[in-house]
Amino acid sequence: MLAFRGQIVLPDRILADAVVRIAGARIVSVGVDKPWPGDTVIDLAGGFLAPGFVDLHVHGGDGHDFMDGTADAFRGICKAHARHGTTALLPTTTVARHDQCLAVLELCRRFQRGDSGGARVIGAHFYGPYFNFDARGAHPGAHVRNPVPDEYEQYLAFANAITTASVAAELPGAEGFVRACRARGVRCNVGHSFATFAQMRAAVDWGVRHIDHLFCAMSDRARLRLTQTYPMRGGVMEATLFFDELTTEIIADGKHLEPELLQLAYKIKGPDRLALVTDCNRALDMPDGPYLIGPLDGGEPMIKRDDVGLLPSGTALASSVAGMDHMLRTFLRLTGAPLAEVVRMASLTPARIAGVDDRLGSIAAGKLADLVVLDRELQVRQVLVNGQPVHSRETAGLELSRID
Ligand SMILES: [Zn+2]
Repeated sequence: MLAFRGQIVLPDRILADAVVRIAGARIVSVGVDKPWPGDTVIDLAGGFLAPGFVDLHVHGGDGHDFMDGTADAFRGICKAHARHGTTALLPTTTVARHDQCLAVLELCRRFQRGDSGGARVIGAHFYGPYFNFDARGAHPGAHVRNPVPDEYEQYLAFANAITTASVAAELPGAEGFVRACRARGVRCNVGHSFATFAQMRAAVDWGVRHIDHLFCAMSDRARLRLTQTYPMRGGVMEATLFFDELTTEIIADGKHLEPELLQLAYKIKGPDRLALVTDCNRALDMPDGPYLIGPLDGGEPMIKRDDVGLLPSGTALASSVAGMDHMLRTFLRLTGAPLAEVVRMASLTPARIAGVDDRLGSIAAGKLADLVVLDRELQVRQVLVNGQPVHSRETAGLELSRID
């Protein structure tokens, strides 16, 4: 069997001098132990073995956006994010034409059952097009629309390939959409929304359980005061912090948010209700310059500069250009949270939010061997999906020794 020896990142602690043994696609044993005769041993050499990262919100990488709608784009993105430690992800749609959304759902269904060559596809995060137009941020505006059953029933024909679906709670038709999703087992988020606290309370009653990128593209007291001087009202931000039913996610690239906002989210929601996401666009591992958010056909121009995505005017953010390893290191550095908790926010917590924690998200006997080997500086050395290497930083691979 293949055995990893060294520091193992468990959900609640770092286990030193431990051995994780895998056979085929599964983890067989985890514990303070010695390798067995016949084991092939990978020495972690002062680094760590962590569960592979799970990304709930990711648009692209290596030049591709999932909305490009091709198998080539899906493979390219899944491989690019695997290089950054992500072993499972939700291809995240954005605002586009009806036929473009359907094409991406069709590909999610196909890759859910097949090998991407990199991170596994759990199922779609159906993210656009049901945004509040004024809260759309950098996403293309032309096809922002309200949910109507004639349209979304066609999307929900792919319900088995949709893990989560987002909607702005204040839109006409939002309640019907959430109830239709919940009836088919699709989890629901609120995102790109200027809802009031009262509208958010209603959305929680309909079954919304997660909020897209906390602090970004959402209403708060100050925003809502523009339309009602008094009494002041809370918005999506206050509701996210208030309702224990709601989990949320954060873009910890060090560019979107100052450390105090990461610290606030961590303090109020805690590591079991706060997931790290990349919200990464197609410019991951690409040079600075102009790109598109969304499909090649109809996407919105943005530029990669200063390690972040920006609107060409430079006046607004246009999602991140970094992988999950960067988010992990940045959150750790800016908050001082314990390593085991920050890894959990990039693995078990998002796996639970996506409903796949029975098989993914932590290093435990019986779970799938989706693993990432990190060095002492938490740089990615090797990544395994289903026990098979999908990425090795060292060209010669990790040093192996055989126990006889
Ligand atoms: Zn996004």
